[in-house]
Amino acid sequence: MPDTDLKSLVRTIPDYPKAGIMFRDITTLLGDAKGLTACIERMAAPYAGKGVEAVAGIEARGFILGGAVADRLGCGFVPIRKKGKLPAKAIGQDYELEYGTDIIEIHEDGIKPGEKVLLVDDLIATGGTAEAAVKLLQKLGAEIVGAVFVVDLPDLKGCGRVEALGIDCHTLIEFEGD
Ligand code: AMP
Repeated sequence: MPDTDLKSLVRTIPDYPKAGIMFRDITTLLGDAKGLTACIERMAAPYAGKGVEAVAGIEARGFILGGAVADRLGCGFVPIRKKGKLPAKAIGQDYELEYGTDIIEIHEDGIKPGEKVLLVDDLIATGGTAEAAVKLLQKLGAEIVGAVFVVDLPDLKGCGRVEALGIDCHTLIEFEGD
């Protein structure tokens, strides 16, 4: 599906969840059969043949995309969740939000030391969530082969933040502003 225009399939909701935010809603892309296939193909393609052993996806939209990318790469999927949601023993990493902090967690046996991991989420904005996910995976000894997102908001420079950690950042489409 090389000619599928992914950007036109993302719906923008102004002032959600609060005034001034342009929410980039990928549910319309996920709901389009050709769009979903093209999206998963384009996320996975740069990492095919790179020996990825696990895809780690960030709650919640990173689960939908990450599961499909893992299937395409022929590896397993590991969830990174908001604090308190994982049933087995987990480790956490805090990160800053606009107001206060939050914590994401991963099962401590979710990744084995040295395992090659691809990080997946739907969108990178400031990169705070992705940076916390990278630190979490590194605590478990993961070798992170890259981080892939459908949407980049380049004005917020999130990809630069991930790249500053030495991680390759790959995105499919961009929107101006935040
Ligand atoms: P950040 O940590 O600033 O990079 O924010 C990334 C997380 O927040 C991702 O999980 C996104 O799903 C969500 N997010 C941030 N900004 C937006 C936006 N404008 N539209 C949709 N989702 C967003």
